[in-house]
Amino acid sequence: MFPKIKNPQDNVRVRFAPSPTGELHLGGARTALSNFLYAKSRGGKFLLRIEDTDLERSKKSFTDQIIDSIEWLGMRWDEEIVFQSNRSDHYKKYSESLLQSGAAYRCFATKDELVNIRAQTDSYQYNGLWRDRDEKEINEQLANGVPYTIRLKTPEIGSIKIQDMIYGDIRVSNTEIDDFIIVRSDGSPVYNFTNVIDDNEMRITHVIRGEDHISNTPKQIHIYSALGWGIPKFAHLPMILGQDKKRLSKRHGATSVESYREQGFQPEALLNYLALLGWNPGTDEEIMDLSKIISKFDFERVQKKSAVFDEKKLNWISSQYLINQDVNETLNEIRVIEPEWGKRRNKIFCLNVIKLMAVRSTSLRDIIAGSEYFFKAPKTFNNKDLKKVWNKATGQILTEICELYTSSESWNEKNIEKVFKKYIENSNHNFGQVMKPMRLAICGSLTGPSLFEIMELLGNEDSIKRLNYIIKENKIYE
Ligand code: GLU
Repeated sequence: MFPKIKNPQDNVRVRFAPSPTGELHLGGARTALSNFLYAKSRGGKFLLRIEDTDLERSKKSFTDQIIDSIEWLGMRWDEEIVFQSNRSDHYKKYSESLLQSGAAYRCFATKDELVNIRAQTDSYQYNGLWRDRDEKEINEQLANGVPYTIRLKTPEIGSIKIQDMIYGDIRVSNTEIDDFIIVRSDGSPVYNFTNVIDDNEMRITHVIRGEDHISNTPKQIHIYSALGWGIPKFAHLPMILGQDKKRLSKRHGATSVESYREQGFQPEALLNYLALLGWNPGTDEEIMDLSKIISKFDFERVQKKSAVFDEKKLNWISSQYLINQDVNETLNEIRVIEPEWGKRRNKIFCLNVIKLMAVRSTSLRDIIAGSEYFFKAPKTFNNKDLKKVWNKATGQILTEICELYTSSESWNEKNIEKVFKKYIENSNHNFGQVMKPMRLAICGSLTGPSLFEIMELLGNEDSIKRLNYIIKENKIYE
């Protein structure tokens, strides 16, 4: 299915590690896609890990939805999904080993003490209050059952270098990193800790995630070092912003993958669009299937600046997929989301409707919504439209053209057009005066595909019936 690997790399293993605290949104999907593309372009493995340690905020329904969306997008993962909620024993094992080696320590500071430290130092950093206590003191606290957190003993001097595949080298001074908590007082491990342990156990070679995690990276590097583990490579992806240049979120409307699926967008089109958000293939090419994107994907052409989500471009890409797709396939996909669509008519009729509508639709739902009149003659008309197209002469015009159509021999687009043109030539009415009310009669609206093609598809009888209907209904306007 996927292209031959141009740049095979040894044992590339990447992962997408969502927290199930909400549905999969476009930003998450783009992160998953970057991981998937990197793995597949290097002959590596794409793994999935659900970071569900926050029991209060994580929901099984979100986990199911995220997995479902990833599957729908066609990013099949390798190996079994890892659930962090099943792994608390592992985390405990490593926090204990860090305590034992002295790379971490128990901190018995109370909330009030921490507030005081902050006030005194005018900083959010912890001041190492329990960093170098002797064992006796610690054992006393333990014997008294005083609650404690576990903190990592981080270096006090020097700096740390993140080598980011997108942002380049980022240096952070160790003075900016305090002895941060790795296990809370209720015994639960924090995100940075579980993340590192699992990335190591899953033998992740490249950590590819949103730029909002850059600030976690120095801490994570310290955890790797404390455990004596090798450090994976990092690639932080620039954020996706809304048109207002604020981080894309629910405020910008529906941003979940599920909502795009419900609107009838196709997964291939959505993936194609997401791939182009902040990345380009180095050519002008924009419509690319997954294999093509895989064959071209590289971090070198991922831009550093944030990408702005452009609904218009997504719609354009989506319409290109609809235009180029086999109509049979489109029909099948429409029937998945709307099983009764077009069932009043036969398959050929439905395929023809799709052919006409695909060029002017951005999603499957768009086709469904815009094609009602093919299956049901319009019976009511919008007053505004009527006012626009109807005048004293209209009833007469439509009656005359109806007569011509009733006696016309063959019923096909060309002939329907010929009769129409001839009528205009022989009468003193202009194109719009005839075309607009005809379109309103046939479609119930003033926009749509070529009217002659629509009339051919509807057939002689139905088209004439529709014209007669509007003539009778609107005598009142004359
Ligand atoms: N659970 C984190 C998130 O959803 C994952 C961060 C990472 O990929 O390391 O943002």
